[in-house]
Amino acid sequence: MAAAMMSERDIEFLLYELFDSESLINRERYQDHDRQTFSQVIETAKTLATKHFLPIRQLLDTNQPTFDGNKVHLPKELQAAFDAVVESGLPSSTADYEFSGMQLPPIIACIANAYLTIAGGTGMGYSALTSANANLLQAHGSDELIETWVRPMRSGRFTGTMAMTEPGAGSGLADLTTSAVKDSDGNYRITGNKIFISGGDHNLTENIVHLVLARVKGAAKGIKGISLFVVPKFLVDQDGNIGASNDVALAGLFHKMGGRAQTSTALSFGENGGSIGYLVGEENNGLKYMFHMMNEARIMIGNSAAVIGIAGYQYSLDYAKERPQGRLPSCKEPQSPMVNIIEHGDIRRMLLAQKAYSEGALSLVLYGAQLADDSHTANSSEAQQQAQLLLDFLTPIIKTWPSEYGPKANDLAIQVLGGHGYINEHPVEMFYRDNRLNPIHEGTTGIQSLDLMARKLVINQQAGYLATLAEIEKTIALAHQQPELEVYATELAQALTTLTDTSNAVLQAMAQQGVDLVLSNSVKYIELFGHVVIAWMWLRQGIVANTALNQTSDNELHQDDQNFYRGKLQALQYFYRFELPQITLWSQLLKNSDSTCYNMRHDWF
Ligand SMILES: Cc1cc2nc3c(=O)[nH]c(=O)nc-3n(C[C@H](O)[C@H](O)[C@H](O)COP(=O)(O)OP(=O)(O)OC[C@H]3O[C@@H](n4cnc5c(N)ncnc54)[C@H](O)[C@@H]3O)c2cc1C
Repeated sequence: MAAAMMSERDIEFLLYELFDSESLINRERYQDHDRQTFSQVIETAKTLATKHFLPIRQLLDTNQPTFDGNKVHLPKELQAAFDAVVESGLPSSTADYEFSGMQLPPIIACIANAYLTIAGGTGMGYSALTSANANLLQAHGSDELIETWVRPMRSGRFTGTMAMTEPGAGSGLADLTTSAVKDSDGNYRITGNKIFISGGDHNLTENIVHLVLARVKGAAKGIKGISLFVVPKFLVDQDGNIGASNDVALAGLFHKMGGRAQTSTALSFGENGGSIGYLVGEENNGLKYMFHMMNEARIMIGNSAAVIGIAGYQYSLDYAKERPQGRLPSCKEPQSPMVNIIEHGDIRRMLLAQKAYSEGALSLVLYGAQLADDSHTANSSEAQQQAQLLLDFLTPIIKTWPSEYGPKANDLAIQVLGGHGYINEHPVEMFYRDNRLNPIHEGTTGIQSLDLMARKLVINQQAGYLATLAEIEKTIALAHQQPELEVYATELAQALTTLTDTSNAVLQAMAQQGVDLVLSNSVKYIELFGHVVIAWMWLRQGIVANTALNQTSDNELHQDDQNFYRGKLQALQYFYRFELPQITLWSQLLKNSDSTCYNMRHDWF
């Protein structure tokens, strides 16, 4: 069954009706673009995804990369698909013209990448990480590093990785042990072991540029002693030609439940004398620089989680429209024809939940991508600072909410297909497996919730938190002007009161009762905040949909558009009736500093 990967009508709605992306062409950076070029890039991505990746999606899922002790073997079909996408320039679409880029706004790139993500599994993960690696080096690396490593990554000759995790240092990078010793030539010798490094070895490109976190000999313990190094798989000469191996060995591949097109590697650095590493920026600032890449990766992960959620939704929707099974409860006539399962109330519930989760998540991710863009290209420095403030605060939620609710949507897609969803004839079980990584990597949900509650909520005299509340209040005020949305405006205002009461209570409790007890419920806080933010995103969508329905009389508005906007309003209603009320329970647990989990003892399990 060939199903639509995404709803093109929804893409148009999100890009042009909700976020007014067309207005970006008034910014100097985007002056060569117009809506047509945006559409062409998205269309190119869709064509490449359909032509090169969709036909091999299942093959990539069932044929994991292998390692013969010497070399990695990927399915050969991946190379052709990868090359075709690199050739199109899409992996560097947001980069500057002088670095082989198209200077495309990130919000448009998110949609283009969405098609490749849905069709390619993690086949395009190699270039997504490369782009984020190059962006970090362009922001913090010397001219020499940029010339030597960024140019070939932008042009597709090299790929890049982020090499942080170690066997003994995953969530807690403060304990990493990979070491760096300064050489007489000013470079460093790197020694240590990294695990789970995505794209850490393969033969898709000539070279691999690892960005490695390591501790310079004698540096402080903890995160203050961490530095960042470029450690290539192969050294290059002055002209950029590939030279000797850099003592980076593949120790093994991990075999994963999903995301199988991308190698997941254990790497040993410097077993034979030390891999040469080139320092990025200054010693001991490594984690700060790495956050450049991590924050970008967090939006990418939110995007991937949301769009894989959408892929499952679209697939199960098409299936439900065609699968005849059973009759409605009111029908007592066994000879009457079966109905398609979309007629069953419970199937509609599951489809509506998927729509509310995945389209809500995508709207948040696109908002985040626009904030990232505004923080550099908005027309005034005040607007840029405001965007940065909101982005810094919201990043844990932009990463976490889609990562938690994308897989929940995929779980429901499996359920809609029943037994047929559990077998690999349909891709919904693969979507679930692929998406299940997203709450884990780039900071687990638990770690993101600690960051939100213990750090983001309080820093800078709560500036990011307060700016977020103020933005939500603006939407509430707008919604109050539309009688059909009055009820939602009131409910979101109440939710905001619940959120602020809870935030005040947890801050007070952290001061009085200690952080260990209060933070044991931190995931409930990010869930609560995430639900309020998604309710906000849905109200914003509702305002656009309701305005469109009111501004045009029914017979002027095309039936498809009427259906589309009514669908948006129904998903808004679903979120406010079925999801948002849950925050009351989460708020109670937090406000009472509930100690159920905290007081559980090891030996009681
Ligand atoms: C497929 C895949 C791809 C990956 N790609 C990369 C990559 O490219 N580069 C890279 O550097 N890493 C990568 N990772 C590593 C990934 O980021 C880590 O797995 C993740 O950060 C968690 O670390 P861990 O696995 O060591 O789990 P742990 O840190 O051991 O965590 C286990 C559990 O304990 C919880 N926990 C840990 N510490 C705390 C705490 N202080 N408070 C509360 N709860 C806590 C966690 O939330 C989690 O639930 C990848 C992982 C996978 C599986």
